[in-house]
Amino acid sequence: MIKKTAIFLLITVVCALGSEGWRLNVIFNNDRHGGIEPAPATFMNPETPPPLGKLPSEAAVVADRRAQSAERGEGFLYLDQGDIYQGAPVGSLTKGEAIVEAYNLLLPDIVTIGNHEFDNGLDNLLGLVEASNFTWLSANTIDLSTGEPLKGVKPYIIKDFTLPDGSTLRVGIIGITTIDTKYMSFPENTAGIEILDEVETANLYADSLKTHYGADFVIASCHMGLPFDARAAYTQLNETSAQFDEGHYGGIDMVEMAGRLKNVDVAFGGHIHIGYSTPWEDPRTHVLVFQNYAQGTGFGGVSFVFDVGSKVFLGYEPIATDNCLATLFSEEFWPNPEMLALVDSLAGESEKGLAEVVGSATAFLPRGDAAQNRVGHITCDAMIEATGADISTTNMGGVRAEIAAGDITKKAVFEVMPFDNKLVVVPVTGKEVVEIVERMAGKYSGALVGGMKVLFDPRSKRVVELSIGGARVDSSAVYNFATTDYVYYSYGIPQFEAVAVDRVKFTGLLARDAIERWIAAHSPVEPGVDDRWKNID
Ligand SMILES: [Zn+2]
Repeated sequence: MIKKTAIFLLITVVCALGSEGWRLNVIFNNDRHGGIEPAPATFMNPETPPPLGKLPSEAAVVADRRAQSAERGEGFLYLDQGDIYQGAPVGSLTKGEAIVEAYNLLLPDIVTIGNHEFDNGLDNLLGLVEASNFTWLSANTIDLSTGEPLKGVKPYIIKDFTLPDGSTLRVGIIGITTIDTKYMSFPENTAGIEILDEVETANLYADSLKTHYGADFVIASCHMGLPFDARAAYTQLNETSAQFDEGHYGGIDMVEMAGRLKNVDVAFGGHIHIGYSTPWEDPRTHVLVFQNYAQGTGFGGVSFVFDVGSKVFLGYEPIATDNCLATLFSEEFWPNPEMLALVDSLAGESEKGLAEVVGSATAFLPRGDAAQNRVGHITCDAMIEATGADISTTNMGGVRAEIAAGDITKKAVFEVMPFDNKLVVVPVTGKEVVEIVERMAGKYSGALVGGMKVLFDPRSKRVVELSIGGARVDSSAVYNFATTDYVYYSYGIPQFEAVAVDRVKFTGLLARDAIERWIAAHSPVEPGVDDRWKNID
């Protein structure tokens, strides 16, 4: 125990340096998922949400910081760790085009390719790269036909900054994409692509940048995430032999990455939607990892400070509101008019028709855990109603938004299920139903289900009781189990994979359309949940 405490005491924050040294100012973001449009922050307060300026406000911050840095002779970088478009209608309906257009005005220094950049196939991604005025990075995403990074995508960039004494500080930035991309996108979207080991690739390029290219400072921009509790993950990684939760594929997280990086000084993460106002610092390598929340609701800001004569990296200073992070309240960060006009026109164009009202809610419909997730329950019930299946499940992370009280528009439904996932029905035995539910529940200690009632033990991660249609599940009976093609293809559930493909019903029906039909048929929708999921204490 004493040893453990000592390790954590060494994690000292190297900030508050005073005004000496030369500054490289960095604004960063990750997992925008199409969140460019100003919107009320219902996740903060569903009743009276404060307005968020999103990209127009962020663009103002970026323009200010860029101009100010130039004026003061300091450096500036804007880094985006990927998953830029898939999510909001303006991103998904344009397959990323609108977001690239907005980024062409924002002018990030780099954007690292995220897994969702592949959601509309490789050709679409290559088209986006070609349309971009900015640099896309991914050193470890390899086109198997050439053995090189994707066409137009760079493994790294080098930026030279002039210091006050006339010397040059050379900064290398390497892009790394999670190898989970192979598992998280439909197989045809990443056919012909290999994603190489994240650590090996980063270390290879970092070594080369420092040894052969004279880089003084190396940044890794990673579409890989710091987990929700980095310290717990570190302890688990280093002091136990526990396996990662199910639902964690082959890739590693940024805690493990930071511990294994060599010649990399700082890293930026994404992919997991949790922000760190103070960076994670690996106790041994001292690599700092920065990460913001998702959906473009805020930005990250940090200055890296260097000694002018020796070019030694002295530490960081936060330059956002809450240490290294800020929420983009439009009253605090006044939107950039040019970006606001562009975003308005892009959103207006892509969202024609989405204002149509499909139903209504008597009150705010929340998400939350397996028991309380009203929107998740609606999704599962809609899957059964649309397919005639006995039972259903969907992944917790696939239900992307709450629904506000009052009229429910097509846009609101879109935001719940922005991915073009289609419904599939797989016949499985009762025994397999229990196993599938346990697998779906592993990661979150709960699963979104329909047509069944489950009593679950989160400690053993086992189903204690499961009933279907009011009767205890019959382990040898066959049940029609509805889910999304995403879960079917990408979740690696052996019980689904074992069923012969000709017995699986591919409905072609979008999960989103099923939800829309359910809402239309059941309006006004009430917020109350039933007792379909219960965890034992
Ligand atoms: Zn991602």
